[in-house]
Amino acid sequence: MARPIELIPLVCLNCSTPIPAGKDEMAWVCAQCGQGMALDVQKGLTPLPVHYAKGIQPGRRGKPYWVADGQVNLQREVYRSSGKSAQEAVQFWSSPRSFLIPAYSLPQEDLLAQTTRFLLQPPALISGPRAQFEPVTLSMEDIQPVAEFIVMAIEASRKDMLKDIRFSLDLPLPSLWILP
Ligand SMILES: [Zn+2]
Repeated sequence: MARPIELIPLVCLNCSTPIPAGKDEMAWVCAQCGQGMALDVQKGLTPLPVHYAKGIQPGRRGKPYWVADGQVNLQREVYRSSGKSAQEAVQFWSSPRSFLIPAYSLPQEDLLAQTTRFLLQPPALISGPRAQFEPVTLSMEDIQPVAEFIVMAIEASRKDMLKDIRFSLDLPLPSLWILP
C-alpha cells in the first residue's frame, strides 16, 4: 500500500540543527555535531549511540546495523533427540549473543540471512572514522520480532525432530553500527 509522504520537522537534540529526514527513515546522525538520534514510536526523537566500523572506503556509504546483545532462555522439546543438538542449543544460548540486524533497506530474505550469518559468526567490531551511511529504514521496534524469528529458524534447523519450542529473548536498547 502506498503511504503518503510524511514530512517530519526534526531538529538535532544536541545543537538544534535541522535534520533532513527522508521518507521512511528511522535514525539519523546530525551533520553538524555528530549526535545520533532515532525515532521511537512512543518517546519521539531519542538519543542513539552510533559507532563506525573500520574499513569503510572514503567516499563510500557504510551500511547501518542495529546491534544488541540478546539473552535467550530456551526450552525445546523433541520427538527424537540426537542428544548432540540439545547440548549444542544449550551451549549456544548459554551466554548473550550479538544480534546485528541490517537497518537499511533490503529484501526480507536477505535481511534474515544476513542476521543469521552475523549471529553465527559475529564480525569483529573495530571502531573507525565517521562516515556517511545508507538510510536507516528498519525501526527499533522491528528488531525484537526479527531477532525472535532468527532464534526460531536456528533452532528449527538443528538436526533433530523439534516438537515444540518456547523461549524468551531479552534485548537491551540497541546501538547503531555503520559497517563497510
Ligand atoms: Zn547536532
